[in-house]
Amino acid sequence: MTKPNILFIMSDDHASHAMSCYGSRINQTPNLDRIAREGMRFDNCFCTNSLCEPSRAGILTGTYNHVNGVTTIGAHLDNRLENVAKILQRDGYQTAIVGKWHLGQGTDHWPTGFDYWNILQGQGPYFDPEMVRNGEKVQYSGYTTDLITDLSLDWLKGRDRERPFFLMYHHKAPHRHWEPDDKHAQLYEDVDIPEPPTFDDDYSNRAHAAREARMRVADDLNELDLKQPVPEGLNAAEEKSWKYQRYIKDYLRCVASIDDNVGRVLDYLEEEGGAVEDTIVIYTSDQGFFLGDHGWYDKRFMYEESLRMPFIIRYPREIEAGSVCEEMMLNVDFAPTWLDCAGIDIPDHMQGRSCRPLLNGETPGDWQQGIYYRYWMHLSHHNVAAHYGVRTHRYKLIYYYGDACGQPNAIDERRDPEWELFDLQEDPCELNSVYGDPAYCEVASDLTRKLHELQEKLGDQRHETDTE
Ligand code: CA
Repeated sequence: MTKPNILFIMSDDHASHAMSCYGSRINQTPNLDRIAREGMRFDNCFCTNSLCEPSRAGILTGTYNHVNGVTTIGAHLDNRLENVAKILQRDGYQTAIVGKWHLGQGTDHWPTGFDYWNILQGQGPYFDPEMVRNGEKVQYSGYTTDLITDLSLDWLKGRDRERPFFLMYHHKAPHRHWEPDDKHAQLYEDVDIPEPPTFDDDYSNRAHAAREARMRVADDLNELDLKQPVPEGLNAAEEKSWKYQRYIKDYLRCVASIDDNVGRVLDYLEEEGGAVEDTIVIYTSDQGFFLGDHGWYDKRFMYEESLRMPFIIRYPREIEAGSVCEEMMLNVDFAPTWLDCAGIDIPDHMQGRSCRPLLNGETPGDWQQGIYYRYWMHLSHHNVAAHYGVRTHRYKLIYYYGDACGQPNAIDERRDPEWELFDLQEDPCELNSVYGDPAYCEVASDLTRKLHELQEKLGDQRHETDTE
């Protein structure tokens, strides 16, 4: 068989509702849309923990965070663990990672399994980054989104054409503090970006966790985020709207730069000829993001905007152009999918499953009908209580167990445990928990059972207070 090249493009915090192929109301992403138009769009791709490092660890290892150990930010990846790059490399692939790594620094945490790696340190800056290239620090000048693309293209151009490649091309954008380059600085200057329907959410009819979170556009954006003083004389509602425009425009400007740069890479593959048919191109982001939804920025919650990952994939050999998949897929399923497409056995320790049948338009009879999620970093950074839960196609059950559980960088302060249950068909914006509603009694107990079954299957521990 022909081993496919794998070009994995990942940005940081790019929510699917800021991509026009997902029906964005607020921006256009013509180059990303090319991947969807020529390939498949997944409408139900989810992360297992909506945070940078944990999601990245899940993607690389094909395991959940309680297994790979990267439960929180700062719980760095032990690079002796098996990962998908090592497996592909042993199979004869040329492997590289360029851009954001964010799984730790130093010899215990730097990338392993990559012939070439050139990574930002931590989050990395938007301009003039000092990067680490195969263990050596190198100072670059320029806009980081452009640089990461230039370095990726250089590697692609210099590769051995006789062997397949695996490239992780990872943008730092559009992560906070959303700093656009000059080219896009004036974009949206004269327009008002529409506010989302849940912009003025009052956090009633749910657990306390949403109300207590500190990620409000109105109150929690700082000077680095806003970059301008708040104009005087605005009332509270006007000030909130002004802050939203400041935030969302810079965010979308950073996205526009990613879109341009992805277009450059797609052009290169097409101009080179022959590489398109044999290359799997994926665009995703490490998690979703609140774009003013619920009055918030940031992520962490198991709510839809943050749980959902964009995932579009082009592979002309196996995928029908313009197709859409509604089945549930997880970040831990990526690595098994790549191995399957490369004709490599999926190791038993990987907990994800290959989505290759879905790419071919076939759904296995026993495909997952519910997914398990866990956010571990109790109260740190944005005061979001630790929680776990299950999401099916129609429902979502969340348990805020409210405990740091000894995890690194989690705040060791208990909160009263709380449950939430959402009927996504009746309440797609998740504004009204029906947990405790007698009409949903049976649904709640079915989901609770499913949650505990998933925990048992995946080897995660139920919290001691979870006695349902
Ligand atoms: Ca992220």
